[in-house]
Amino acid sequence: MNDIILLKQGEIILKGLNRREFENKLLDNVRRRLGQVGCFKVYAMQSTVYAEPQEDVDMEAALEAARTVFGALSVVRAAACEKDKDKIIETVAAYLGDEINSVQTFKVESKRADKRFPMSSIELSRYVGGEIHNRFPHLKPDMHTPQLVINIEIRDLAAYVHGPATKGAGGLPVGTGGRMVTLLSGGIDSPVASYMMAKRGIQLIPVHFYSHPYTSVKAKDKVLSLAQELTKYCGRLKVELVPFTRISEEIREKCPEGLITVIMRRFMMRIAERIAQDNDCVGLITGDNLGQVASQTAQAIAVAEKCVDMPVFRPLIAFDKREIVDMARDIGTFETSILPFEDCCTVFTPKRPRTRPKQDEVTLAESKLDIENLVEEALNNRERVPS
Ligand code: ATP
Ligand code: MG
Repeated sequence: MNDIILLKQGEIILKGLNRREFENKLLDNVRRRLGQVGCFKVYAMQSTVYAEPQEDVDMEAALEAARTVFGALSVVRAAACEKDKDKIIETVAAYLGDEINSVQTFKVESKRADKRFPMSSIELSRYVGGEIHNRFPHLKPDMHTPQLVINIEIRDLAAYVHGPATKGAGGLPVGTGGRMVTLLSGGIDSPVASYMMAKRGIQLIPVHFYSHPYTSVKAKDKVLSLAQELTKYCGRLKVELVPFTRISEEIREKCPEGLITVIMRRFMMRIAERIAQDNDCVGLITGDNLGQVASQTAQAIAVAEKCVDMPVFRPLIAFDKREIVDMARDIGTFETSILPFEDCCTVFTPKRPRTRPKQDEVTLAESKLDIENLVEEALNNRERVPS
């Protein structure tokens, strides 16, 4: 039997002239992702990506992998056969036999993309339905709430038989929206924010600021694990690890306590922007969420981004914590995020951070710091770790 995976394209099909570019990116990404499971021939036709195994591979693992690729609305494992009505019946019986035996009611749905096929979709569904009913007499047809829908698709190269499709990852292929730097802490929010932007086609460059020895080496490992967990959706990532200890100490020593958090955040923004410029990025991403903590009031967020020119994207800005936690669980980053390692911000957080910092006070406080040198030094001492 010719087992195959079909990925139905999502929003890509709404694209006009640059549709080909989106499709090619999707093909690249499917190839890369499935390549981790086995050898596949991957091609696109009729708004669908076909992935044919070229060797004995774990098809369930491949299906799981295909479900993490952005750009596909649905993903299904199917059996390919000749476009002949009786071959189709044989294939249905052999390929879906176990499923058919475990249900009582069914329905056949056919789609005929190849209009040269001699039967209409309705005729084909009726014919296959009748024959399947003869072979599996326990089955009853049910057009409204069947336990099993047998799908038949007549396409250019072959006919495809499959059960219900599963949801794909949605979104747009990673890489079609350009590159951005994502500020990745060890918390719950920033991995989810990163995921959401990757889902809209953005290729990520994660940047993490660490404050060794105030934070343990494990804090770094935690961020690298989070990046690793994101790679299944985003492709390989290179995490930029930036030392932040000296900056934090300088701020704590020379600036008013209530402004420490917002000034730290501004340094992160400046450094992230420099890394973004070096990598032809089109924006920055943070996991900010309005009102969640003192540094995330509208005023604090506004002051924090005043020092950079690049647009800052905050996909989680209006979500509830519960919704973010649900997403973190879904994408598989939650368990790592709640591991108890401190972030530099937690260590230096003042007892009473100002919730409404004023720009001129912040500018005055920062005038005590050698901003350019501190930024330069942190950039020079950063390491880049592949995950
Ligand atoms: P998270 O759960 O993502 O840590 P948070 O709710 O703890 O977010 P903050 O600590 O105020 O919120 O951080 C807001 C955002 O700033 C983070 O989502 C992240 O994008 C960025 N950020 C904070 N700390 C760091 C860090 N050490 N390295 C990189 N980015 C950071
Ligand atoms: Mg945090």
